[in-house]
Amino acid sequence: MITSSRVKNLHPYVPGEQPKDRVYIKLNANENPYAPSPKVQEAVLDFVKNNPEKLGLYPDPDSLELHAAIADMLNKCGGVLCRAQVQGGEVQPAPEDKIPFTVTPDMIYTGNGSDEVLSFVFYAFFDSSKKFVMPQFTYSFYPVYAGYYNIPMDQVPLKEDWSLDVDEMLTRAGRNGGGIIFANPNAPTSLGLTRDEVRQMIKKSSPDEIFIVDEAYVDFGGESCIPLLAEFKNLVIVRTFSKSLCGAGQRLGYIVANPELVNIVTTVKNSVNHFPLDAVAQVSGTAACRDVAYYVETSRKVVQTRDDFYNFLRDKGFYVLKSQTNFLFAKHPSIAGDELYQKVKAQGLLIRHFNTPGIEDFVRITVGTAEQMEELKNCFNKII
Ligand code: PMP
Repeated sequence: MITSSRVKNLHPYVPGEQPKDRVYIKLNANENPYAPSPKVQEAVLDFVKNNPEKLGLYPDPDSLELHAAIADMLNKCGGVLCRAQVQGGEVQPAPEDKIPFTVTPDMIYTGNGSDEVLSFVFYAFFDSSKKFVMPQFTYSFYPVYAGYYNIPMDQVPLKEDWSLDVDEMLTRAGRNGGGIIFANPNAPTSLGLTRDEVRQMIKKSSPDEIFIVDEAYVDFGGESCIPLLAEFKNLVIVRTFSKSLCGAGQRLGYIVANPELVNIVTTVKNSVNHFPLDAVAQVSGTAACRDVAYYVETSRKVVQTRDDFYNFLRDKGFYVLKSQTNFLFAKHPSIAGDELYQKVKAQGLLIRHFNTPGIEDFVRITVGTAEQMEELKNCFNKII
């Protein structure tokens, strides 16, 4: 065969479907239904119109302006947009989210979506000689990277209430010595640990092993672990523009960590692709971070719509988890997950169903606009 032996370990990620045959209301990939801030559009148009020569030059490999803008945004909102307070256009963190130090640009690393960032983080901190620990049901890209880099993994079942089995994760991490990763809030369950629960977890784990928290959804009501960076040197927090910053198409993800760890990930990046962020992505991301107030508002709208839809699902007889994210994870006693997904699709709406044993009864529903969720309500009312 002409393929390398490595290719045999690949089990590519399967994203939420993106059909081209018809226009669906897309509630299957946890995208944000709102467009990025108008300031993003302005900045991109201005850049392309007035600096066409810059499109012919390599972009800043270190994305310095963007890193400064991300750090500034985090200091302003405390890392949880839906709870931040806006007064006269100025954004302040909710008291419980205030970061007890200043996040500095050297604590930020950015990449082409958090998928790429996660991949480099896996390469940088997990080893092929030691198993790393993750929950059994979590972001399904983690096992894909494990295969790609040939890193053995140890998947810990969730508890009966679908929360993380923290004690078991710590026991196995202690035994394996290869570090820990989980999403907080977790996907697809939508449930989160409090910052204090994560603090206790890190305290009980080894300071010599990496502890990775993926905060892709934290802006919709979780508790960010950024404040813990003052206490723990082995903590890496991964975040994305794709959810709360309405920017899945911009392909921007980042980590927040102590500068030594940021430098390690940068070394990996510079060994693969010196310029993962193109010039337009850097401009659009910087403009997004400078309009925090806009995203506080869109995050609040998503949270409000989510809570309304949660009540609808409960009234309709669904078992539904109390979400801290922009999606709901639910199952109904009278219809299988796959059948519900198929029937909803036939009506022109896409939700997500996983054929994975253990969660096959559930569907995962991304929160869209209030109007889109009304459509889904009508659809469920017809089906159930
Ligand atoms: N982490 C989690 C938990 C996710 O659900 C996703 C998106 N599906 C990502 C990371 C990746 O997001 P992106 O590459 O768009 O930044």
